[in-house]
Amino acid sequence: MNHNYQIVFASNNNHKIKEVIEISKEFPLTIIGQSQYKIESPIENGATFIENALIKASHTFSKIKKPVIADDSGICVEALKGDPGIFSARYANENATDAENRRKLIEELGKTSSNNRKAKFACAAVFISPTTNEPIIAYEEWEGIIINEDGYKGFGYDPLFYDPIFSLRASEMSTTHKNMVSHRGKAFKKLFLAIVNQP
Ligand code: IMP
Repeated sequence: MNHNYQIVFASNNNHKIKEVIEISKEFPLTIIGQSQYKIESPIENGATFIENALIKASHTFSKIKKPVIADDSGICVEALKGDPGIFSARYANENATDAENRRKLIEELGKTSSNNRKAKFACAAVFISPTTNEPIIAYEEWEGIIINEDGYKGFGYDPLFYDPIFSLRASEMSTTHKNMVSHRGKAFKKLFLAIVNQP
């Protein structure tokens, strides 16, 4: 496989695209965003991260018929029985901003009587190509603790997510550091290994 093996990432999220391009640098792969194809987002009506990742990848693949990767990810909070989970992007409302979703998460946690602040990020990453019959699927998690925002900025729930092993919020980590430990970093490394080792 040469470095020109191009894969389109079925995402319009620039934070994710940046992370996944960085992860791909260890592999003989070239990842490009799907912006040039002007593909609208599909309805994510799956019941799991894997189902939603497959919906996104199949949608883009049906339009371009080229190798495609996609992911679905989110945060699952123990004291909220795993919420917001697959609804992480639209927790506060259908078109919620990251800041609105974070505020809602802290509000909901405040309503519980629990002191449990354990949470995990989850990521399902999938690959579909014209030359393989079955999608390749990888799933990984990242465990941490929810802490208040205190003015921290960053992508999605990163400012609220604290990794006790490194004593850092996700938003305080460099992209390289985050990719070494994160749900997305680990899932895409597994996925890329499987892609380059295809028979
Ligand atoms: P998706 O684009 O449908 O996968 O939605 C994922 C949502 O989960 C994003 O909008 C973020 O709010 C959140 N999320 C997923 N991964 C991360 C991460 O690495 N950091 C922060 N938030 C994340």
